[in-house]
Amino acid sequence: MISMKEQCICCCEEHTDMAFDDFLLDSETWPELNKAQNSCSCSYCSREAVYCLEKSVKRE
Ligand SMILES: [Zn+2]
Repeated sequence: MISMKEQCICCCEEHTDMAFDDFLLDSETWPELNKAQNSCSCSYCSREAVYCLEKSVKRE
């Protein structure tokens, strides 16, 4: 399991499932799946990231 900075995991297409698992284990909440920003690399294999999983902000 990787450690997350600012509740965000970047991942390539191949590691999206793994990123979801880690995110759920760590923050116990469902992540927001966003398109990765340019120059973001996968947290698992260092290839170019396709998605970024971020903690969804609750608006009250
Ligand atoms: Zn990857």
